[in-house]
Amino acid sequence: MGTGDGTDTAADRLHELATYFLEHPVPGPSARTTHSTTPSAPMNLGMLDYIQASVTEVVQHTRTVNPDAGPLPEHVADVYDWCRQYTAHAPAIDQQRARAIEIRHRLEHAVRAGDARIVRPIHCPACRRVGLKWQPGLWRAVCLNVHCARTNGGVHHQWKLARLAYEQAAVERIRQDCAT
Ligand SMILES: [Zn+2]
Repeated sequence: MGTGDGTDTAADRLHELATYFLEHPVPGPSARTTHSTTPSAPMNLGMLDYIQASVTEVVQHTRTVNPDAGPLPEHVADVYDWCRQYTAHAPAIDQQRARAIEIRHRLEHAVRAGDARIVRPIHCPACRRVGLKWQPGLWRAVCLNVHCARTNGGVHHQWKLARLAYEQAAVERIRQDCAT
């Protein structure tokens, strides 16, 4: 709801992940291994830690924007609706930031669940074409367009999900401003 791209939302994706986690519990402490990982590659964090961190990020942003935000919803996936509810009257920039978090989470949740095709319909911020390809090793989406790479010294542009989400949130904001 309110995401502008149909039924596939961050909440849906988080619900999927949370359900998956409940049905396939991470066995033992091995999943928490952080040996030789980098902060930008959270692949080795346990799924529960990951879900927890995602929810915390949304909650922190919401409470920063609105210290009077009410109690958290019962189900983790409802945290995005909860955030929207309590930031509805916040300054546009705070709402846009909340939206960027939600968009990034949708992408992150999907990639985590093994659905990396989610990046394909996203426009490359450099050439504006679709067709990004997810590179798990880089934890980035790469634009494979040769013309795009040519404008970048022959190197394919690589995008963090945060950057793609930021761009999409900004575009949505402009559209909203134009519509009102
Ligand atoms: Zn490109």
